Amino acid sequence: MDRFAAPKFGVSFSRLDSALGEDGCLRWYFWRSYGSWKGWERDAPPDAALAYRLGKMRSLAALAGAAVHEAAQHVFGNTSQGLSVWPADKLAQETANAFMGDVRRILPQDLHSSSKRKPALQEAVYGVWDQDPRSEDFDRTTAKRLKPGTDGFRQALNREVVFYEERIRVSVQVLTELPLLKHLASGAYRLERMEQLTEIQVPFEGSEDTFTAWISPDMLLSRPDVGRYLLVDWKSGEAKEGHIEQLGLYAMEAVQAGIPPSDVGLMLVYLSEESELRRVQVYPCRQQLVDEARARLQAGAGQLRELAVDGDVVANRPVEMERFTQLAEGSSRCGWCEYRMLCGRD
Ligand code: SF4
Repeated sequence: MDRFAAPKFGVSFSRLDSALGEDGCLRWYFWRSYGSWKGWERDAPPDAALAYRLGKMRSLAALAGAAVHEAAQHVFGNTSQGLSVWPADKLAQETANAFMGDVRRILPQDLHSSSKRKPALQEAVYGVWDQDPRSEDFDRTTAKRLKPGTDGFRQALNREVVFYEERIRVSVQVLTELPLLKHLASGAYRLERMEQLTEIQVPFEGSEDTFTAWISPDMLLSRPDVGRYLLVDWKSGEAKEGHIEQLGLYAMEAVQAGIPPSDVGLMLVYLSEESELRRVQVYPCRQQLVDEARARLQAGAGQLRELAVDGDVVANRPVEMERFTQLAEGSSRCGWCEYRMLCGRD
């Protein structure tokens, strides 16, 4: 089958959350999965071309996250191979420089001339709040978005860049201080893989048909001496209940490969958490957690399947747009959604 004939039906934790979670939006799912399809083609319909470009935009948060992940690859990748690792200060500086380089590279990029390799910066397309959105005084009803060319845009953008630069420095410091590194250096742990996108096949509930689930834990380590595994995920924001559920989903792959859940440990590392006590959270992986993650995946995939004509996820054509429910105007989720231009909420 021509792999460009239809968008591939599949779910990931973040896609399910963005489409069906507490603040999820099915219209977002439409633009991400169907509305942007073939938007890369020269003669694409205007909405598809726009949705495609909007979907490729990068936000400062995403650029900062990517820079920290690069730093993690350096620290854990080199340590596992017995290679030298930059001192924390130098690594933090280099990581912040890489982030700044990315910002400078894509900032001048106009949305309509952006490409997959050179996307537009979300903050330049939609603007930056004139008030600090993290401040206790932030008032969404009076705050204005400043766009390039308007008074104050540079200053507001700079405020955001400085915030993420600082977050990068803290995150890199935390990474370099993790006790896991010592275990890796001593050979007690072995690095199996980092940030590898993996597909697993999961049956739809009550059916033999399967769907693809995309999983990408940040790191998988093993303890060769006792035959145990440790799944690790970095988090840049605050702790949320769903994070452990996400790890349960990642553990499904190990369980499907025949590893008993009791041999898998789960670790969440909160990279911007000041308290050392709350920074690293370790959980046992119980069968119940894996079962719950699987049930959530199946329920979510089942709901999304109903949005494909006749539930046919191979042809995977969307039902009428109205069934992809739009969030109410003024919803705070729309404030950071990449597709709000298409929903008329620019
Ligand atoms: S702008 Fe709001 S309604 Fe439109 S896709 Fe985004 S979250 Fe949904």
